[in-house]
Amino acid sequence: STAVLWFRRDLRLADLPALLSAGERASQVLALYVLDDALLRPSGKPRVAFLYGCLKALSDSLDGRLMVVHGDPVREVPRAAASVGAESVHVSTETAPYGSRRDRAVAEALGDVEWVETGSPYAVTPGRITKPDGDSYRVFSPFYRAWCRHGWRAPAAGSTVEWIEPERPGRIPEAPDLGATPLPPPGEAAAHDLWESFLDDDLRGYATDRDRPDRPATTRLSPYLRWGCIHPRTLLADLEARHGKDVESLRSEIAWREFYADLLFHRPETARRNYDRRFDDLRYDKPATTFDAWRDGRTGYPIVDAGMRQLLAEGWMHNRVRMIVASFLVKDLHLPWWLGARHFMRHLVDGDLASNQLNWQWVAGTGTDPAPFFRVFNPTTQGEKFDPHGDYVRRYVPELREIGGKAVHQPWKLPSLPRGYPEPIVDHAEERKIALTRFNAIGK
Ligand code: FAD
Repeated sequence: STAVLWFRRDLRLADLPALLSAGERASQVLALYVLDDALLRPSGKPRVAFLYGCLKALSDSLDGRLMVVHGDPVREVPRAAASVGAESVHVSTETAPYGSRRDRAVAEALGDVEWVETGSPYAVTPGRITKPDGDSYRVFSPFYRAWCRHGWRAPAAGSTVEWIEPERPGRIPEAPDLGATPLPPPGEAAAHDLWESFLDDDLRGYATDRDRPDRPATTRLSPYLRWGCIHPRTLLADLEARHGKDVESLRSEIAWREFYADLLFHRPETARRNYDRRFDDLRYDKPATTFDAWRDGRTGYPIVDAGMRQLLAEGWMHNRVRMIVASFLVKDLHLPWWLGARHFMRHLVDGDLASNQLNWQWVAGTGTDPAPFFRVFNPTTQGEKFDPHGDYVRRYVPELREIGGKAVHQPWKLPSLPRGYPEPIVDHAEERKIALTRFNAIGK
């Protein structure tokens, strides 16, 4: 008997429950990937290039036996299944809004061919954890405790199936030209290498250094988790064997990803709308030149500009700096979070609907479990605290390279501004007051 294993955001062969399930049902398996314009169109070039790299790596580890087709999955998946006479199609469960809708349509279109969902891109599949009254969690800490109590399976064993040589394998498109953007090496093997070297060299100190954009202190695994080159269960199993605050801190960051996926599962509309609907009445400014300055990293606030330029240069930004630039857009420029979220989704290699939209809402104060609205990030003191020697800023803002130490965070205090670097486009202290007034006006 034959089966189809349809890969989506699980581009790996290790620890893949859907592969085990296909192997249990069928003696021969067709590996399939569908290039779907609905997902590709809104993705920026860096994410698409990374995806193609991961597909290439997957195809290589299957000795080229990956069938790649371009089109609507509702048509393409049944067609591929029919081409090999498959009795079942196996996938990892998808719980995000588009993916789950698409899957219902594909399952329906498959008719008698069985649709089998096993595992998901999360240690605990979104929707599994509920409060004792059956409702979903809205606050991270109790979610985290329940998530730890719920636990997760050990990584799935390896599986040896016989892969079907596709008659028409299709081809993985050439990656779009990224100019000088350096992408992380794509694929499953690269993810494991990165993780192992992090465990050996950088786990120690993670809890304190993870907030330091000037140091290579975090895992940089987000693009790999985004595409499923490595499963969080694999990370959690390796952490299980270790102890201490660094381990605890990383486990809880992994859980934030799961928390936001769970929230999006329960409230899919929050991808576009305020979680807390009271904020629908918040007054925003019209995006004008300030938005362009933010997007291009020319606000005159060095840490904001460094972050925005890191995003454009690398398709990635450090978490602390993501928070600072997001706060700046919403609270200093008074622009809606979804404008910033859209820009992030275009440029981030790790761009993920749940993590992106709900982190934006967290910073904006419109989400669940948010940073209280009145806690407005001060871009100067944040810069001085988390980039204390100014190394991060100098790395991404060449105009400021001549300024030594932390003075780089306040170039306006120098006798003259370095050539080509702008004056601050707004006065943070003033804008903070305006943000608070608008916030108080909606009665919170
Ligand atoms: P590490 O510190 O090594 O953490 C390990 C893993 O935990 C990460 O790879 C990630 O999967 C998860 N994680 C860590 N912090 C968070 C968090 N706050 N929320 C959710 N998961 C987390 N992350 C994305 O993967 N995709 C996004 O589109 C995204 N957009 C963001 C937008 C904003 C405004 C903010 C503030 C954060 C966003 N994040 C997003 C979360 C976080 O910034 C990145 O996951 C992190 O910087 C990735 O680097 P790392 O892998 O080295 O993280």
